[in-house]
Amino acid sequence: MFELPALPYAHNALEPHIDARTMEIHHGKHHQAYVNNLNNAVKGNAAEGVSLLDLIHNISKYTPAIRNNGGGHWNHSFFWGIMGPNAGGQPTGALMDAIVASFGSFDAMKEQFNSAATTRFGSGWAWLIVHDHKLVITSTPNQDNPLMDIAEVKGAPILGLDVWEHAYYLHYQNRRPDYIGAFWNVVNWSAVNAHFEAATK
Ligand code: MN
Repeated sequence: MFELPALPYAHNALEPHIDARTMEIHHGKHHQAYVNNLNNAVKGNAAEGVSLLDLIHNISKYTPAIRNNGGGHWNHSFFWGIMGPNAGGQPTGALMDAIVASFGSFDAMKEQFNSAATTRFGSGWAWLIVHDHKLVITSTPNQDNPLMDIAEVKGAPILGLDVWEHAYYLHYQNRRPDYIGAFWNVVNWSAVNAHFEAATK
């Protein structure tokens, strides 16, 4: 059985950038629903007992319900971990070097990421991934992610942003770009760096 992971900080820890009520509903209702629906979707078929990562890597073999809810579970578990209180700023060390090598500068990377997040039509995610030993920005629709075998651009996510309306509408309403701008204040670069090291070692 898949389980909802505990949020690694208090619901109000990301205020004022992401409000407590949004976090309560996003984690406690939306993420919980992906977990519940994923458990129902794997019950009694070939997907039962398969690890989440194995489901994701071979998602084309499974049902749309497993794709949507397995993706939802993986994406949100990842998302909570790359944010935190007293965060933001810029990364250092090898990650910063890789960002400069791939995009020219930290600000250029941010600009490309913001553009991917802003222009993703409807619901989906923006990603910074390790792809062929380079850092690349991409985006996916719905609850897809770059680890899935069906992804247009594949790679290992090191940073991701949920741009579903449920992620920001209570506080930002239709102002998705304001939410995207605020996100940079809660990025936990040490967590992003750990993903980067795991993907490049
Ligand atoms: Mn979400």
